[in-house]
Amino acid sequence: MNEYEARQGIVDAGRLLHSLGLCPGTSGNISVRLAGGVVVSPTNSRLGRLEPADLALVSTDGVHIGGEPPSKEATLHRAVYRARPGAQAIVHLHATDSVAVSCLSGLDEHDALPPLTAYFLMRVGTVPCLPFAPPGAAELAVAAGAAAESHRGMLLANHGSVFAGDSLADAVTGIEELEEAARLFLRLRDYPVRPVPPDQVERLRRPARDAT
Ligand SMILES: [Zn+2]
Repeated sequence: MNEYEARQGIVDAGRLLHSLGLCPGTSGNISVRLAGGVVVSPTNSRLGRLEPADLALVSTDGVHIGGEPPSKEATLHRAVYRARPGAQAIVHLHATDSVAVSCLSGLDEHDALPPLTAYFLMRVGTVPCLPFAPPGAAELAVAAGAAAESHRGMLLANHGSVFAGDSLADAVTGIEELEEAARLFLRLRDYPVRPVPPDQVERLRRPARDAT
């Protein structure tokens, strides 16, 4: 993906995610990896109203090269790219159901969402929930980078979700699937649940570490 395609792709992805009700206010950010850096949505921007020329260009080592000031969560994106050399795009959202799950006490921080559907296992795999740290904090980026070495998707406690994809389309559909899994988990909390059988979980679950 060249820079022009990346900019237009982020605008289109932002509109789609907004139309799905997944980015309230100015929350969430989207980035695409380029040869020498990252294109990322600007700070305090509505994902449904991005303009290609406004998107921030940040070098691999974090220098703001052009466009509006980058999201303060761009450091988290860069940490995830460093950890996953095959990742080409990252979406981070404050979508309601993922945020709700990230606020639950007693969550398994290594495996926060149960294996309820085959599609979740195939597309997302295991989802950890990282300890709370303020948005933009260096320790949050460090924790996300460490988790990204073996996970494509993750929750950030009391904050939201992150998904790294091998393309922008993969990142968008992956975070949609993560949000859907969070919604199902919450909807089923008061019911006895029959998850996917363990032998099938192992068969279906996307490898912890593959191309992305
Ligand atoms: Zn955030």
